[in-house]
Amino acid sequence: MTAMKIKPKKSWFLWAVVGLIAGGMLAWQTRRTVDATVVDAPTASIPADNLSPEAEAAALAERCRETAAALQTRLDPTFSVLVEPPFVAAGNMRKADLAAHLEQAVLRPAAAMRRAYFTGGPGEPITVLLLTDRGVKPGEDRDPGYAYRGWAEKLFGDRDVGHHGYYKAAPRTMVMNIDTGDGTLVHELTHALIAEDFPHPPDWFNEALATLHEQCRVEEDDIIGLPNWRLAALREAVEAGTLRPLADLVTKDDFRGPLEGMNYAQARYFAMYMQHRGKLRDFYAHYRTHRENAAAAIEHVLGERIDVVENAFIAWVGTLQE
Ligand SMILES: [Zn+2]
Repeated sequence: MTAMKIKPKKSWFLWAVVGLIAGGMLAWQTRRTVDATVVDAPTASIPADNLSPEAEAAALAERCRETAAALQTRLDPTFSVLVEPPFVAAGNMRKADLAAHLEQAVLRPAAAMRRAYFTGGPGEPITVLLLTDRGVKPGEDRDPGYAYRGWAEKLFGDRDVGHHGYYKAAPRTMVMNIDTGDGTLVHELTHALIAEDFPHPPDWFNEALATLHEQCRVEEDDIIGLPNWRLAALREAVEAGTLRPLADLVTKDDFRGPLEGMNYAQARYFAMYMQHRGKLRDFYAHYRTHRENAAAAIEHVLGERIDVVENAFIAWVGTLQE
């Protein structure tokens, strides 16, 4: 149960196009609760601006080790813990299994996202908790996900949690029911990393990028969204003529309203459309500093009126295969 550093992989390995990240099959119920419950995180101060990059990295590594040590006191001996700054990973599984999830669904996607979108890395530890029912002695609650639900409540007092997992902004912790697959882990990882670079992003764009990564191809310096299960409902809405205007999706502050399910699909595929046009990175960079008017930002980056963009987007959706 000691913390361990993963040996870095050879760089050529990162060039290889690998792993499709399987997406979950059910509705995503993400939670970004901001209550004060924390994983006994150390109260280390943020590094002073005048620290060298090496000194900042060393300080972050030390804060990660402290976070891991504090977390271990709250877990049981079934857990393995790994430290790979800025990440602290813990899971009730063998260390080799935890390392595989960490490499495939955290470190590689995070490195690709940093190169594609972000201006700097996280300055504070991000904790990744992976819970599995495998190997857990059955208790009274034997419905799938009982280890996840049990630890979410024990560590954070969280009940009625989403099926796949969630990200808690205050303790900077992803809590994942890893038996449902790695797709949600990359989704929540995206939220955790955006929060560092683009504070309080509008819901539509936060979820557009996170859902884009539910199913993706990870390359060394890019992460490419691929079609997934959300396409069918979007196409049905397009064919029925019931899809809301794109301008409404991106400008009205109602993502979590009655249209939430379809909003996820429309936002995801609009992000994929911008990626298809080679403009998603530009949009991210521009929108981060011009968040007050998303429609204007889209028109600026794509160089077309939004109704023209919307028509082309709808036509492109019709060409996709799930
Ligand atoms: Zn989300």
